[in-house]
Amino acid sequence: MLIEENTLFEQSVSGRIGYSLPEADVAVNAELPQKLRRKKMAELPELSEADVVRHFVRLSTYNYNKDAGFYPLGSCTMKYNPKVADSAVQIEGFKNSHPYQPAETVHGNLELMQNFEKYLAELSGMDAVTLQPAAGAHGELTGMMVIRAYHSANGNPRKKVIIPDSAHGTNPASTALCGYSVVEVKSNEEGLLTPEAVAKVLDDDVAAIMITNPNTLGIFEYHIKEIADMVHAKGGLVYMDGANLNALMGVSRPGDFGIDVMHFNLHKTFATPHGGGGPGSGPVGVKKALEPFLPGHSKSIGQVKAFYGNFAVIVRGYAYIREMGPDGLKRATELAVLNATYIKERLSKHYHLPYTRPSLHECVFSDKFQNENDIKTLDIAKRLMDYGMHPPTIYFPLIVHGSIMIEPTETENKAACDEFCDIMIKIAEECKTTPDVVHNAPTKTFRRRLDEAKAVKDPRLTVARTCCECSES
Ligand SMILES: *Cc1c(COP(=O)(O)O)cnc(C)c1O
Repeated sequence: MLIEENTLFEQSVSGRIGYSLPEADVAVNAELPQKLRRKKMAELPELSEADVVRHFVRLSTYNYNKDAGFYPLGSCTMKYNPKVADSAVQIEGFKNSHPYQPAETVHGNLELMQNFEKYLAELSGMDAVTLQPAAGAHGELTGMMVIRAYHSANGNPRKKVIIPDSAHGTNPASTALCGYSVVEVKSNEEGLLTPEAVAKVLDDDVAAIMITNPNTLGIFEYHIKEIADMVHAKGGLVYMDGANLNALMGVSRPGDFGIDVMHFNLHKTFATPHGGGGPGSGPVGVKKALEPFLPGHSKSIGQVKAFYGNFAVIVRGYAYIREMGPDGLKRATELAVLNATYIKERLSKHYHLPYTRPSLHECVFSDKFQNENDIKTLDIAKRLMDYGMHPPTIYFPLIVHGSIMIEPTETENKAACDEFCDIMIKIAEECKTTPDVVHNAPTKTFRRRLDEAKAVKDPRLTVARTCCECSES
């Protein structure tokens, strides 16, 4: 049974310690000037080692995680990550190397990074790659800075960047940070960006078009090559948000359909446990003409990250690619698409599917059918938790009202996809027969439904450790 967990400060017992050291036989702090010494003890919790270890182990069990079960967050790619990639990071030479070490002592690390750049370039059809950016959005910023530097070197940085309404939310933010104004274009009723819509806003002030592909509906932008040609004809560049490359890898290459700059999310496509708030990595690939502007090159935009980027994440990505091999990477893509398509087909009779075009690694439903019984997306997501499932991404993408965005990833087998579908279908049934149950969900989890507005405005960060309270909260 779960019990409430007090903070370490609340658990503190005066005089309790978590270490044992022999008495010092030299004068302590002899050289430290009086004015720099503490007047009283630091106010830190006083605990035993067991207190601390148990506290953190208990907290860790309150979290749902990818190693515990199905985690279908769309656009986030919460896939199971092979432990072999984690063990590669533990290899002594990688684990203990330091960025200040002389280069001649870390040849292995440098070789791994150089090979990894080549793998990413080959997979994407790009000519050069930087491994520095620390996340997807950081890669976007780096890519936009490269675009700006390229245009500036040609005499005019230009003013605008075209972004479709089906793009990831970080795209306009990264663009604005680079001093460009964002021109939004609407996707059509099929969820696609069209050459006609782009033509309307395309002029000599356009520095680039930035396209999330597959877009946030999980749909491949079928007109991307034609659109790229149009933008190039006006002297603009084409950026592809490639965060979800697990939908394309081994099957099609952005460099072959007109992309000039793109980023990868190693923490979505190439191993690395994702979602724990730990380090990610967002390498950027470019075509030859843009290579001089990458970090470390002749006309560089400069460093975008200290040292070499998040090296441990790069090692995991390298290990993943070596483990999978070219055929394995292609197979992962095929399975990611197959799983999402299977779930889409099974659920499409029970949930409203706003866009019916074939989609790739994820699918997007809405709560339209359930609205008839006054049930909203949030209720469905909360009810899933009662069945031990992590909810999908909800209320994103914004172009679908009440969206439910499901991404099973390549990891899951048919039984896992079926179990999820069975539960979703059961919930759709409950929405008609016992809507109150869905409204009040979750009832079987550690926490009941929170008043989300109150939780933000009046956060309660500590709780008393009594069992009667946990049944109320
Ligand atoms: C996740 C994601 C991003 C942002 O990546 P971060 O590493 O979270 O910064 C950008 N675009 C798309 C399409 C994504 O799915």
